[in-house]
Amino acid sequence: MIAAQLLAYYFTELKDDKVKKIDKYLYAMRFSDETLMDIMKRFRRELGNGLGRDTNHTATVKMLPTFVRSIPDGSEKGDFIALDLGGSAFRILRVKVSHEKKQTVQMESQIYDTPEDIIHGSGARLFDHVAECLGDFMEKQNIKDKKLSVGFTFSFPCAQTKLNESYLLTWTKRFKASGVEGMDVVTLLNKAIKKHGLFVGVSSGTGTNACYMEELRHIDLVEGDEGRMCINTEWGAFGDDGMLEDIRTEFDREIDRGSLNPGKQLFEKMVSGMYMGELVRLILVKMAKEGFLFEGRITPELLTKGKFETKHVSSIEKSKEGLTKAKDILGRLGVEPSADDCIAVQHVCTIVSHRSANLIAATLGGILSRLKDNKGNPRLRTTVGIDGSLYKMHPQYARRLHKTVRRLVPESDVRFLLSESGSSKGAAMVTAVAYRLADQRRQITETLAEFRLTSDQLLEVKKRMRTEIQNGLGKKTHDSATVKMWPTYVLSTPDGSENGDFLALDLGGTNFRVLLVKIRSGKRRTVEMHNKIYAIPMEVMQGTGEELFDHIVQCISDFLDYMGMKNTRLPLGFTFSFPCRQTSLDVGILVTWTKGFKATDCEGEDVVGLLREGIKRREEFDLDVVAVVNDTVGTMMTCAYEEPTCEVGLIAGTGSNACYMEEMRNIEMVEGDVGRMCVNMEWGAFGDNGCLDDIRTEYDRAVDDFSLNPGKQRYEKMCSGMYLGEIVRNILIDLTKRGFLFRGQISETLKTRGIFETKFLSQIESDRLALLQVRSILQQLGLDSTCDDSIIVKEVCGTVSHRAAQLCGAGMAAVVDKIRENRGLNQMNITVGVDGTLYKLHPHFSGIMHQTVKELAPKCNVNFLLSEDGSGKGAALITAVGCRMREQEEQKS
Ligand code: ADP
Ligand code: MG
Repeated sequence: MIAAQLLAYYFTELKDDKVKKIDKYLYAMRFSDETLMDIMKRFRRELGNGLGRDTNHTATVKMLPTFVRSIPDGSEKGDFIALDLGGSAFRILRVKVSHEKKQTVQMESQIYDTPEDIIHGSGARLFDHVAECLGDFMEKQNIKDKKLSVGFTFSFPCAQTKLNESYLLTWTKRFKASGVEGMDVVTLLNKAIKKHGLFVGVSSGTGTNACYMEELRHIDLVEGDEGRMCINTEWGAFGDDGMLEDIRTEFDREIDRGSLNPGKQLFEKMVSGMYMGELVRLILVKMAKEGFLFEGRITPELLTKGKFETKHVSSIEKSKEGLTKAKDILGRLGVEPSADDCIAVQHVCTIVSHRSANLIAATLGGILSRLKDNKGNPRLRTTVGIDGSLYKMHPQYARRLHKTVRRLVPESDVRFLLSESGSSKGAAMVTAVAYRLADQRRQITETLAEFRLTSDQLLEVKKRMRTEIQNGLGKKTHDSATVKMWPTYVLSTPDGSENGDFLALDLGGTNFRVLLVKIRSGKRRTVEMHNKIYAIPMEVMQGTGEELFDHIVQCISDFLDYMGMKNTRLPLGFTFSFPCRQTSLDVGILVTWTKGFKATDCEGEDVVGLLREGIKRREEFDLDVVAVVNDTVGTMMTCAYEEPTCEVGLIAGTGSNACYMEEMRNIEMVEGDVGRMCVNMEWGAFGDNGCLDDIRTEYDRAVDDFSLNPGKQRYEKMCSGMYLGEIVRNILIDLTKRGFLFRGQISETLKTRGIFETKFLSQIESDRLALLQVRSILQQLGLDSTCDDSIIVKEVCGTVSHRAAQLCGAGMAAVVDKIRENRGLNQMNITVGVDGTLYKLHPHFSGIMHQTVKELAPKCNVNFLLSEDGSGKGAALITAVGCRMREQEEQKS
């Protein structure tokens, strides 16, 4: 009895002694809590670097966005296949997600071999093998003809740029197939799958290392600042920049040197089950060599890489049979261990595996403490899902990990959950989410693709515009032409000799304005303007012509009172921005109302006559109406006053139109072949004969159908401010109907015509605007939206305005090239005077338009000049020119 006790005591002594020696020997692998805290801090810094815009490219912990934005929302349904490559086994699974009452996930899976020669051979062969196995699996599942979606869990560090694009950064673990690093593995897999005649679409999902939901506002690489996105930390690379040198041991360095990817994945090499057995083996070899173990016996088996496996570590650490296992395992290595040796080896295993658990606890602690700060709560309650055979199979690992995490992040209540069916269930859910998002994305992209015009299409638009210009100018073709090319009787741009006081009216846009313009010629040319804005109520815009002109005259009367000029008979220029057939400078027959106007008894009438009659009816003052002016012409004239090379005018505001100086000989509607005249193109009607139908979308047709002038001004309806918002609204309605937006709910607001004004497009598309602000704009509009909604809305706006700018640019390219050809020039410099709020205030419209002109008319150097109040100043300048001409006529006779 006593003897037995003594014996036991003796063994404990022996054990303690040995253990102490080993502890000392491996002191570098045992960390104090301070050290672990320090590592945790370092890792938190790495997290920040990985997420930061300026630091990401040099960061070691890449913090890759997965584009999986939300935790599964329960709407995932369907039949998916998941490929799981990179874990301990290559597995293919079929996952059926259904939800009758409760969401259920049903799985069938099969493990396939990945022989050494394949994973170390060529990339093409590896992916062939994967596709082959997939084919076999589908055959067995009887789903070979089904068009299923495949989620690709590829457990290697990848840079995921999109949901279905993932570039392998570097192979890790046992893989080293050639020609894959730096490639998009989804593409590689897709190619192989196609080759095998399978009909599946692949998206990739991540299933390894540490993923967590990070606040979007902290992920600089992804736009947006609200909501959360799953981040794949790729923490295996922690330390690749030397950050962990102080805790790496000679054994870690040796492992690294002998690995397939030296210098990379240094943290992974310290903690992962992949390397643990090997680490122990290296330690044992060294200890044996130093005579510290096995009486110095070293066998070939002990010296063979991979002979000591991680599962052996697990066995040896089992509390009851561990020592017996050690004896077996070491015996198989031929080292004939003593009881002493077995205890020693067990302790070595403990130290190595404990270090792994400690390090994982430190990095996990880093994430948890970050999550806690993100949430701003003093305590964090969270669940960590963990997977991996080390965690599952090792007898102490999980317990040690939990304990250390709780010590390192004491202000948290962490629950650890073993993710049951391995990475597969996680992969399945990620696949399901990914699939749902990818499918939505595909459908939204398809919808918007109709708005994306190729260079060829734009060239075609330019060509067709040129044809229509020709038709408008030709005598025989003019009547049936859509682009009317109206003569304006403006024969030259200003020469600086213009002088006098003029009244100008600006009708045809959002505002009606009356202006007094004082032009002074001579050395110091000046233009002084006074103006007042008047509203035109909707009922007047769409009432009778008499009411409209009475209202106009009433406003003039008010203005003259305001200026104290009722008693002078001022010359007046009438900027009337609608298509007019002019027979002289002061005759303009309204062809058709456009934009929001629809007053009766005006179409077919001379608007100068209507204005004069209105003035007469009032019997209060008299004016000399000298010219009727289109706003495009006013714009061109204003710019030409400053810049003589300006011979084109462009409006991109409520409507869209252009004018330019055409050769008299080409204007068949007007007698005379000498000199030039400005033609008001009225290009808004381009396409009214159906020549743009191939690029019009169902949304354009809807906007047209519900407009005041269906079938008319089709080009204008694709590119001007009055309609862009409506196009956007129609797309949003459709996307909502299909369940991609606003939770599928079409609100009353969204149904309201005109709600989505073009100024909102400008705001939403502003580069400086964060998604949260987009969301608040939508909220102001009464559209209750999520962050994901904002992303889509922004994309829709961008697509619509991009097309508008391109179409406008294609039209302008046709114009400048025509002028160039008129003049027989190989290369031409020209200035375009531009006005319009869309052009001025939209963040991208002007830039895209310029770019398009540059690309489509490479032989013209086009300079765009912003007009300052073209409608007012320009009208006055034209009136001045008109007065001068009239004087010259009078002198002649
Ligand atoms: P008009 O063409 O009526 O003479 P504007 O050139 O000022 O007058 O254009 C007004 C049009 O510009 C509005 O009808 C609207 O479609 C558009 N618009 C208004 N604000 C903005 C903005 N911030 N960004 C882009 N377009 C705008
Ligand atoms: Mg205007």
